[in-house]
Amino acid sequence: MKANLPVNNRKRIVIIGGGFAGLSFIQTIPKSKYQVVLIDRHNYHQFQPLFYQVATAGLEPSSIVFPFRKILQKKLGLHFRLAEVERVDRENKEVHTSIGSLKYDYLLLSSGATTNFFGNEAIETNALPMKTISEALNIRNQILTAFENALTAETAEERTSYLNMIVVGGGPTGVEVAGTIAEMRRFILPKDYPELDFSEMKIELLEGSGRLLSGMRDLSSLKAKEYLEKLGVNIRLESIVTNYDGKNVTLKDGTTLHSRNLIWAAGVIANAMPGLDGELLGVGKRLVVNGTLQLENYPEVFALGDAGVTFSDSNFPNGHPQVAQVAIQQGRFIAKEFGKHESERFKKEFKYKDLGSMATVGRNKAVVDLPNRHFSGFFAWLIWMLVHLRSILGLKNKYLIFMDWLWNYFTYNLSLRLIIQPKFKSKSK
Ligand SMILES: Cc1cc2nc3c(=O)[nH]c(=O)nc-3n(C[C@H](O)[C@H](O)[C@H](O)COP(=O)(O)OP(=O)(O)OC[C@H]3O[C@@H](n4cnc5c(N)ncnc54)[C@H](O)[C@@H]3O)c2cc1C
Repeated sequence: MKANLPVNNRKRIVIIGGGFAGLSFIQTIPKSKYQVVLIDRHNYHQFQPLFYQVATAGLEPSSIVFPFRKILQKKLGLHFRLAEVERVDRENKEVHTSIGSLKYDYLLLSSGATTNFFGNEAIETNALPMKTISEALNIRNQILTAFENALTAETAEERTSYLNMIVVGGGPTGVEVAGTIAEMRRFILPKDYPELDFSEMKIELLEGSGRLLSGMRDLSSLKAKEYLEKLGVNIRLESIVTNYDGKNVTLKDGTTLHSRNLIWAAGVIANAMPGLDGELLGVGKRLVVNGTLQLENYPEVFALGDAGVTFSDSNFPNGHPQVAQVAIQQGRFIAKEFGKHESERFKKEFKYKDLGSMATVGRNKAVVDLPNRHFSGFFAWLIWMLVHLRSILGLKNKYLIFMDWLWNYFTYNLSLRLIIQPKFKSKSK
């Protein structure tokens, strides 16, 4: 196979990954100056902040993913190739991919991060991660199948092991998943499964540190905890999971919990990129770049978003947080640099403009930290919805999500609770 790219005299920028960073770069880069090639292992951009709503049957996967080909329509000089990047050869300025090799003049590494299981194979094998849309859909299938299995369980112990839900990681994702499952337990599940007694179902949220939402203000942490406890979520702080065999969760303090559903939202690690792994790596294996987001010894290589880290921004001496806004701002920043005259390019250092952070716990319940203000409750929840609707790509997706939210809000009953397992036909030899 070959990448089959047109040959011309324009310099080629190869982008690995069309997440928030790669996409915002593409949307900003001046037309026709360069040949821009986006490579991604998926043919769509994924809106990760709403994965938890797919996992809990609140949204259809198709409303939060967007095909690259649609984004690139009418963008001359931009090419997309569906491929897995396997290795970077810095010396020959080449990337090796599942569709062959291609040369670059500039390389943008925006390949994001993946789930961090901290080297624990048992957890990796048995827990449910949520870092791609397929994983979110897999969680939806697993949760719904668990309720079906609870109906046919032979013993009370077996039944509760299907009903119990354990969420590991008290960041925004863990808080959002735990809150939504608790709302399902209250409003939806008793109607769908009248033969089950949902007072038997436990929802546990485990967090290794001493508080939830550790990236947010204390007030937000406390409020989120209060909201979750009101919804009946059992919160265990300073709880480290040491083992999970698919049925039993072992904590560092010796406690054992029983559940066949363990959702792992406890951390991320940058996607490994052979060929660049010999470079300096920061916390979470992020590639260390300078203030202009370039590799010190290979200035034609840039690392953006979750893939890279710079310690040059004086407001963030330990590096920027791994959030969408950082990736988006970095993508735009580098694209603007590429638009400058050659003598002016790559001199300016990236400064992150912190627009605030937020998390939602359930209907009418959210927390928002702006740079100089905190608020929570209904207004925060409205802000959370508006910001997410505004950020999602495509008018149709915005409309679909808005309608789903509206319907859900008034009826408490979104009917997306389908178990759809892919079926593969085995190839005859
Ligand atoms: C469940 C969840 C919820 C989140 N919620 C929030 C939130 O509410 N607010 C917020 O600000 N942030 C949130 N984040 C974090 C945010 O999504 C990330 O910080 C952001 O996506 C980083 O953008 P990126 O462009 O660096 O990488 P990504 O968006 O992860 O994109 C990386 C791209 O690279 C591609 N790729 C990777 N490796 C290869 C390869 N070898 N070959 C080809 N393609 C490759 C992937 O397919 C992907 O398209 C959340 C993350 C998750 C997982």
